[in-house]
Amino acid sequence: MTGKENAQRMEKIVSLCKRRGFIFQASEIYGGLNGVWDYGPLGTELKYNLKQYWWKVVVRDRDDVVGLDGSILTLPAALEASGHVDTFTDPMVDCRTCKARLRADQLAEKNGTKQCPNCGGKDLTEARPFNLMFQTQMGASADPASIAYLRPETAQSIFVQFKNVLDVSRKKLPFGIAQIGKAFRNEINPRNFTFRSREFEQMELEYFCRPEQGMDLLAYWLKERIRFYEEIGINRKRLHVLDVPDKDRAFYSKGTFDIEYEFPFGRQELEGVAYRTDYDLQQHIKSSGKTLDYFDEETKERFVPHVVEPSAGVDRTVLALICDAYDEDSAPDEKGKMETRIVMRFHPRMAPIKCAVFPLLKNKEALVAKAREVQALLRSHMNVFYDEGGAIGRRYRRQDEIGTPFGVTIDFETLGEKGEELRDTVTLRDRDSMKQERVAIKDLVETISSKIR
Ligand code: ATP
Repeated sequence: MTGKENAQRMEKIVSLCKRRGFIFQASEIYGGLNGVWDYGPLGTELKYNLKQYWWKVVVRDRDDVVGLDGSILTLPAALEASGHVDTFTDPMVDCRTCKARLRADQLAEKNGTKQCPNCGGKDLTEARPFNLMFQTQMGASADPASIAYLRPETAQSIFVQFKNVLDVSRKKLPFGIAQIGKAFRNEINPRNFTFRSREFEQMELEYFCRPEQGMDLLAYWLKERIRFYEEIGINRKRLHVLDVPDKDRAFYSKGTFDIEYEFPFGRQELEGVAYRTDYDLQQHIKSSGKTLDYFDEETKERFVPHVVEPSAGVDRTVLALICDAYDEDSAPDEKGKMETRIVMRFHPRMAPIKCAVFPLLKNKEALVAKAREVQALLRSHMNVFYDEGGAIGRRYRRQDEIGTPFGVTIDFETLGEKGEELRDTVTLRDRDSMKQERVAIKDLVETISSKIR
């Protein structure tokens, strides 16, 4: 695809997100808050499905990982220890012509000179570090001791609570602590829709181990994480692994892989999988004066564990799911004429709505009653949607556009009006192939459930 085609594709995706209620700009009626987004009804379901599946795979399906739900407000001491107060910065320049504030390392160059992307001006200030953390005040007094930060990542509360979690969970190494939650970064240039936001969610795992296990576990978690993206339906061909070179890695990391996705706006990071050695725990030991170590009962050794961290972005993965799912093909309209069909090919596991239920006609009481019965039957197993408005073809099309994988239609056959053998059967339509099959109502739950688990 050319750059122009990719830009058009992205425009269509952003417009669908708004039109169908996946993602809205925050505070839109007041002109919008830059770099902040609200998820609409369908976006909320999609995000929920993603987080729930991550939690299932990373925590509940395993014996060696437990969860934590840490606070957002963070004591400065913890973020001084982690290095965020001093070094969590991006280089910033000002354009003297249009006064824009820009990220120095993302500026395009023309003939070897950096240019302002807004006005094309070349009169830029020297780059200076800009700290990305949001600061706030706790309590009524405004003295420096009342400063708190909104956490820039979820990881630090895991390190700070390491000892408490170890004591209560009685896990043996290697074991992990997982967390899903909000993080905040005052990005200089939020851009590419939700990709770079100022408020976002992370799904992070800190997997603690013995020092000699670190490199093997880094390879293990990279594989696990790639498998996860495949399992949620992301096309493997659009996923890439970047082995981050020494010069670009944090000085304490012995190895880092970035898992990248080919977005329409370019190949960009979805997740970082990093072997962080014992850096974080050692920093908190130094600053707090507390022991955050591990006692091995078999070898009688006491030591500070090392850690491998797979750190993923919820919002970036939602955006990758949306970009990956967006497709156009053609389908016949009511008169049999071919028209363009927009179809979101979400994996059934991730789809916001799993099944739509349609009575063939809304003015036939018996059809409506049966359709409501089927809806009630499915509801306790999955997210269902009932729709009786408009021609059946239009109703299918509306569901295709939001990625509902299954459609169930209740027709006169269901009522037994076309022969007893068809009574209590429905048509089950597949979103991707648009094929329909006849299924007994009593088999519906299992047929659909087996595909959405
Ligand atoms: P980038 O280089 O793109 O700014 P990063 O390397 O600083 O990302 P990490 O600190 O490794 O990101 O954070 C882990 C994950 O959190 C990222 O892979 C990404 O999915 C998510 N994330 C980080 N910053 C943002 C943001 N501003 N908006 C949305 N998601 C983010």
